Amino acid sequence: MTTHPQHHLVIGAGFSGLAAAATLARSGKRVTLIEKHSQPGGRARTFSEQGFTYDMGPSWYWLPDVFEQYFAGFGRRPSDYYSLVRLDPSYRVYYGKDDFVDLPASQEGVEELFERMEAGAGARLHHILEEAKFKYELGIGELVRKPANSWLEYLSWPVISGSLRLNVFRSVFSYYRKNFRNPRLYPILEFPMIFLGATPRKTPALYTLMNYADISLGTWYPMGGMGKVVDGMVELAREAGVEFRMGEQAERMMVRNGRVAGVVTASGEIPATGVIATADYQHVEAGLLPEAYRRYDRTYWESRDLAPSALLYYLGIDQPLPQLLHHNLLMDESFDRHAEELFEDARWPEKPLVYVSCTSRTDPTVAPAGMENMVILIPVAPGLEDTDEVRERYYRYALEKLKAITGVDLEGHVVYRRDYSQRDFSRDYHAYRGNAYGLGNTLMQTAVLKPRMKSRLPGLWFAGQMTTPGPGVPPSIISGQVAAEQLLKAGY
Ligand SMILES: Cc1cc2nc3c(=O)[nH]c(=O)nc-3n(C[C@H](O)[C@H](O)[C@H](O)COP(=O)(O)OP(=O)(O)OC[C@H]3O[C@@H](n4cnc5c(N)ncnc54)[C@H](O)[C@@H]3O)c2cc1C
Repeated sequence: MTTHPQHHLVIGAGFSGLAAAATLARSGKRVTLIEKHSQPGGRARTFSEQGFTYDMGPSWYWLPDVFEQYFAGFGRRPSDYYSLVRLDPSYRVYYGKDDFVDLPASQEGVEELFERMEAGAGARLHHILEEAKFKYELGIGELVRKPANSWLEYLSWPVISGSLRLNVFRSVFSYYRKNFRNPRLYPILEFPMIFLGATPRKTPALYTLMNYADISLGTWYPMGGMGKVVDGMVELAREAGVEFRMGEQAERMMVRNGRVAGVVTASGEIPATGVIATADYQHVEAGLLPEAYRRYDRTYWESRDLAPSALLYYLGIDQPLPQLLHHNLLMDESFDRHAEELFEDARWPEKPLVYVSCTSRTDPTVAPAGMENMVILIPVAPGLEDTDEVRERYYRYALEKLKAITGVDLEGHVVYRRDYSQRDFSRDYHAYRGNAYGLGNTLMQTAVLKPRMKSRLPGLWFAGQMTTPGPGVPPSIISGQVAAEQLLKAGY
């Protein structure tokens, strides 16, 4: 068997795999991407039924600058592929029956809202967002783009001189309790931490950069849905020369002379000089790699703090719902207790918080006229027994909560329903313990302490939400780019 000179393979067509493949192809290498599903996007796949279109995973388009930088690397702009609108209000937070606040799109608007909720809070938020901007620029501009092979990579002057301002050793929880007294402000400031997969008590205050992303940079929506971003990235990858082999699953990694030699699928061997695996890390190590090349054993994975899984209900509603916004957070229950049930004492939550998205409030193309496409998401701990009874129980819970708090009564109006949870994540993505968002960004799982990008098997790199920099669409794109750059730099 001969290996095509410099033929690279990418496993997985999620955001990280698409970014890795296009970045490799840009360097002139021959690149093939293999994906288990017939549709690209990974956790961000879409589906349409009865005239309703659903984004199966991500719905919050944050950090627009990361997308701009990505496309700019190819001489393109996001607007060449999809059109963005900034949501205003950004989202609604419910505290109880008919008791809610709408977050204005402008930073000044949010500062005024805070001031109304607590005297002096507007000015404090302003200062916090300035600090968060500093963290964001250093964090997203520099730190997340490190391959995280060694702590030495982080010893740059801006990091050393700014280390105290980065608040790595203080938690988000204590940071906000020191600055604000009105408990109604905490859910607004802390809900973005759910994206990071850890409780605010365990998340380093470095991640208040997420509040800068939310309040200052804004909540955006690609018209047509997040799937349009996937389509744009696929088109860009094709333009860069990536070949796609869809509906083909990697079954085994080929090893020759102590280095990676390609991948085996049901169609046979696909030889390659370098491979980037963006499928779930644990699946690739335990399922595709010979034991001698695995870096992490079962005990390691069992000791990781996983980000939450999710219970999802994709619903078609036969009437308009002007009472709701595009993004609605039903946070009438204790966030602290739900976070504990997610991360500390994993169990089915007693009274979870619920997120309700209706992209049809913004976008008439995703639901039939006069109807709404609704997605209900309940964050749940991974690794729980996901049964039909449990799904039904939380479906009822979510509908009752929606009715009690917002007045929206869906009884008799649900014309389409699909449930999705842990067993689907495991089956569809080989997700370890049915996780939705990978590993949590706790202090002990940051940078070098995350599963390494570079495999023990020479020529193989990992990318995606389970390695650096972590979960979320923008970090996954960055992860793919960084892994590709590392592979190219190593001369494979
Ligand atoms: C419900 C939900 C809501 C979310 N909300 C947001 C949000 O609002 N904003 C945000 O920024 N992020 C959000 N996220 C997180 C974000 O979607 C993910 O972090 C990101 O999409 C992960 O991309 P990835 O490339 O790392 O992995 P994936 O998308 O999982 O891609 C991996 C790909 O590998 C494929 N694969 C697996 N095994 C094999 C194999 N053996 N052979 C070939 N292919 C294989 C899979 O089919 C998959 O397509 C959400 C995630 C979920 C699940």
